[in-house]
Amino acid sequence: MAEKPTQLRPAAGVLPGEMRQRFGLPAFDAGWVWLAGAGPGDPGLLTLHTVHGLAEADAVVYDALVDERILALAKPTAELVFAGKRGGKPSPKQSDISDRLIELAGDGKRVLRLKGGDPFVFGRGGEEALALVAAKIPFRVIPGVTAGTGGLAYAGIPVTHRETNQAVTFVTGHSAAGEVPEGMDWNAIGKGSPVIVLYMAMKHFGIIAERFMEAGRKATDPVAIVSNASTPDQRVLETTLGNAARAAAEAGMAAPAIICIGEVVRLRQGLDWLGALTDGRVLDPDPLGKASDRHQDGEGKQRPNLA
Ligand code: SAH
Repeated sequence: MAEKPTQLRPAAGVLPGEMRQRFGLPAFDAGWVWLAGAGPGDPGLLTLHTVHGLAEADAVVYDALVDERILALAKPTAELVFAGKRGGKPSPKQSDISDRLIELAGDGKRVLRLKGGDPFVFGRGGEEALALVAAKIPFRVIPGVTAGTGGLAYAGIPVTHRETNQAVTFVTGHSAAGEVPEGMDWNAIGKGSPVIVLYMAMKHFGIIAERFMEAGRKATDPVAIVSNASTPDQRVLETTLGNAARAAAEAGMAAPAIICIGEVVRLRQGLDWLGALTDGRVLDPDPLGKASDRHQDGEGKQRPNLA
């Protein structure tokens, strides 16, 4: 862990006191840890609690995926502690991060633990919170917009849509040891979940896609890969399950990326609001081509995902 200076730090008081009062935002007391989500990137997706926490914190312990512009909301005097992976070096041990939080709070600091997305979604927030419980450090959890929903929304993909899926599964493609996770039933997920959203899956996506196809998913199943979602570097690749791994490599898609498998990806033709805004993309009001179906039976027909 190291200090990381940042150039952009404005004066504190980002959130007017009047607004804090009106919403009854809690005071950030000395010796507390706030375990907060920073969302997928766009600072506009921060919660008021997190903005308030940033403005008040004496120490901000942040991860690699937290945007510089967000850190710039910290007080000029706040200690900024980087707790992420840098330049291919291994990440600091989880126990070291928890110890640092306990130490800072023990010194009477107001500690903001800032994580990308939501701290409780593939973010090890639970582990850190349990360490605080064991050390009797008071804490609050501030959820954030997770990449698997908010990041996809920035690509014009809703994770659920009545005509395509009544379920969605969030999966990590990376075990603690860096391998394809083995502790779950890939076959059952491939068969049973109409939409699958994968975090941390770029490295092993070839193997994972094979497993889903062995489970009966079609090679033609729509796939979207969204990298750096909601940031100025956002890129979206639409492909199919059979081609995705190769197409991603060819297109140079890199982490952090969210992968979405399922019919909802086709809705992007109608819902890519950001593409409409920035590239003048023309949106199709009937992206599933169901207007005629609906006319006949009043409900869109579910398209089976399995071969
Ligand atoms: N707690 C985070 C997830 C941390 S795991 C959350 O709730 O979003 C890190 C993984 O999250 C990345 O490998 C990637 O799969 C995903 N991710 C985080 N930010 C992202 C972004 N801006 N764009 C695309 N994927 C992102």
